[in-house]
Amino acid sequence: MSRQEQRVVDLRSDTVTRPTQRMRAAMAAAEVGDDVYGEDPTVRALEDRVAGLLGQEAGLFLPTATMANQVAIQFLVPHGSELLCADDAHVVSYEGGAAAVHGGITTRTWHSPDGFIEPATIAGMIRPGGGFALRTDAIAVEQTANLPGGIIHPLDRLTALHTVARRAGVGLHCDGARLWHAHITTGTALDVYGRLFDTVAVCLSKGLGAPAGAVLAGQHDLIADAKRLRLRAGGAMRQVGILAAAGLYALDHHLQRLADDHDHARSLANALSNAGVVDPGRVHTNIVLLNLTRTRWSGPAFAAAAAKHGILLIAIDHYHVRAVTHRDVTIEQIVHAGGVLQRLLTP
Ligand SMILES: *Cc1c(COP(=O)(O)O)cnc(C)c1O
Repeated sequence: MSRQEQRVVDLRSDTVTRPTQRMRAAMAAAEVGDDVYGEDPTVRALEDRVAGLLGQEAGLFLPTATMANQVAIQFLVPHGSELLCADDAHVVSYEGGAAAVHGGITTRTWHSPDGFIEPATIAGMIRPGGGFALRTDAIAVEQTANLPGGIIHPLDRLTALHTVARRAGVGLHCDGARLWHAHITTGTALDVYGRLFDTVAVCLSKGLGAPAGAVLAGQHDLIADAKRLRLRAGGAMRQVGILAAAGLYALDHHLQRLADDHDHARSLANALSNAGVVDPGRVHTNIVLLNLTRTRWSGPAFAAAAAKHGILLIAIDHYHVRAVTHRDVTIEQIVHAGGVLQRLLTP
């Protein structure tokens, strides 16, 4: 790494990771075929592997987790029905309105100030349809929950939500873009999480460091339908084993090391805790949420000031800024970033 690069610490997102030389070598060596005909052996290997990890019957490779989420939601919720999710959920806030635009789906949201799901509250929101009310057909939940700060929903709450969904006969989708991180932190097996849901979307291009790709897992009938929806969205690709190879490589070599990113996030949180902007107890994974309410900074102004010192962050609203650790930042860079941000926060 050049000194110039070392001075820029990019904590905007874990999507900024670049494929390593070894990952690129695995991509170059991948066996490929036409995946639209189901003939790409590397894609099939990745789909089977992820489905197995998640305790699901089948997997489908897609270009992005956004498309994986939307395909799942469109599978679970017919036109003119509704989806329940958190008001800061990626599926409703950051996917271009796709559920409405492509799926004809109404989204009704819950607000939880602490970011955790409340199964009883969600149960109370479900509408059976009939009469004037729209029918609720599915619930979507993030694990980890991104905007609340990468928090992990405890397994007992997810299990309770599973029971709620089953009893009401509505679908349950997991936006598991960072499910890997929950698994690494809690030690809960991926399939223990995965089996609670009808559909699970996981992302390969965030913490795992692949250049692109996501997998949607579910039962066989889901996947058959999901292929049609993926095609409709323009996501049916050809010799895409080149990308799937990066995903397989990432599962072999980059999954366990997420624990380092979590250590780095805790270090950063501890460095900033004296400034009163971070509650280290809420840093569960690789996301550090800075609450600037009681400082002289707004989120955008703080992010701009940090950027002048080479520390890249994202302001997620007027009061909050997000820092995300990932495999392309070292502990030295984290310590440096912590020092710079601490100085900016000193009145
Ligand atoms: C990033 C993210 C996605 C979308 O992932 P892409 O692969 O970038 O489309 C979905 N859900 C959550 C919670 C995310 O953080």
